[in-house]
Amino acid sequence: MTIAEQEIKRFENHNCAEDGVFYQAMEEVIYSIAPLLESDKKYTKYAIMKRLVVPDRIIKFKVTWLDDNNNIQVNTGYRVQFNNALGPYKGGLRFHPTVNEGVLKFLGFEQILKNSLTGLPIGGAKGGSDFDPKGKSDFEVMKFCSAFMTELHKYIGPRMDVPAGDIGVGGREIAYLFGVYKKITSTYEGVLTGKPFFFGGSLMRPEATGYGAVYFTESMLEIEQKEPLDGKICVVSGAGNVATHAIEKLLQIGAIPVTCSDSSGTIYDSRGIDVELLKDIKLNKRQSLTEYAKRHPEAKYIPVSEYPENGHAVWDIPCYAAFPCATQNELTELDAQNLIQNGCVSVTEGANMPSTPQAIALLQSHNVCFAPAKAANAGGVVVSEFEMSQNASMSRWSFEKVDEKLKDTMQKICKRVALTAKDYGVEGNYVDGANIAGFKKVADAMIAEGI
Ligand code: NDP
Repeated sequence: MTIAEQEIKRFENHNCAEDGVFYQAMEEVIYSIAPLLESDKKYTKYAIMKRLVVPDRIIKFKVTWLDDNNNIQVNTGYRVQFNNALGPYKGGLRFHPTVNEGVLKFLGFEQILKNSLTGLPIGGAKGGSDFDPKGKSDFEVMKFCSAFMTELHKYIGPRMDVPAGDIGVGGREIAYLFGVYKKITSTYEGVLTGKPFFFGGSLMRPEATGYGAVYFTESMLEIEQKEPLDGKICVVSGAGNVATHAIEKLLQIGAIPVTCSDSSGTIYDSRGIDVELLKDIKLNKRQSLTEYAKRHPEAKYIPVSEYPENGHAVWDIPCYAAFPCATQNELTELDAQNLIQNGCVSVTEGANMPSTPQAIALLQSHNVCFAPAKAANAGGVVVSEFEMSQNASMSRWSFEKVDEKLKDTMQKICKRVALTAKDYGVEGNYVDGANIAGFKKVADAMIAEGI
């Protein structure tokens, strides 16, 4: 039995019903890092994988709040503090009905390696709740955030654990959470990132993940000697923070992003997405994409009901580069097949684990450049760390400075991933390169710090 197979077997014993996506992420990492485990036995000697797959702690709590009709509502809150070998726990909060311990373990585990890849001093964590902000009033969201932070504040701090946003948690929610933390603790400190700029946020945090994914793609295409994105058709899924800003950056560099999607359907606008309208509809007014079609009747709206099997139509549209930016496992083997048939050259994961393992294997076997989430969407956490630095030094950086540092960091991550893949005999495989490079740094710190 190989070392990788032994690790997988050990992990199977810990597997529970909710752990499906966590297991998927784990398995990918173990097989990816097999060449490292085989070539350097110290990682097995110090039982690094055995220790890494178990979070330092999982905090689970009840969140009770009053809705606008004075009915008492109960949700569950979580914080999975996974690993702080490289720095304080760091990772977003997700508010979505699908949130459970398994989803947060998957996201927290990925976050350890992602944060390691950035080269910045941050550990890995994730948290959230099964609360659904959709359809709630501002007051309801505020009351929920207040109840959530009343419990969470005991476990976080600028040098302990610094949460940020994720699905369902944007500037509005972070601001409410920050307000409550401040009130309870009587401190004004950088305990959350993604704050609005006028009270401690960093410029460019909202743009960071989407812009970063495009910077990573430009770098990857250059290394792989493919044509740049300028003038090329791109498809993007999602219509939230990550998707909108990926679209914005693609437009800025002269590419033509023609799609976006939400949970109800897909927009195909062959002239290029009107990003200002998209921002207004989705980020400001929280409306459905049907509004986009009303304002631009020449764009095509394809409801999810027309694509019952794989959710949405984005991956059927011919493109040079694809950017899945909505949610996990949204790009299936069938979608990968369509992309390949239509001549797609690169796929960049803006969302966390949006491609199924079968889709990734198929894309890679057809030489499609594939940028995995833990490297390609690290821009968000990179600028979050910049926000922590600015908060700690009571300073403010200009938009240009943050953008320049973000671009530089994304290029460095890309080069490091490509080089690591080459060093371990899997040249061009950015999944293995990212997993090995991310794992090695955390593992070496864990060994140095002792048990
Ligand atoms: P948002 O909540 O801002 O947006 C998510 C978008 O995806 C929404 O438009 C939502 O539609 C859409 N969506 C959700 N499920 C589906 C589905 N099954 N089919 C089609 N569309 C869907 O989240 P973010 O943009 O912040 O996050 C998106 C992804 O990026 C997540 O995987 C997140 O973990 C990851 N990520 C985010 C970072 C950040 O900085 N925000 C950092 C790194 C990763 P609807 O509007 O109808 O709800």
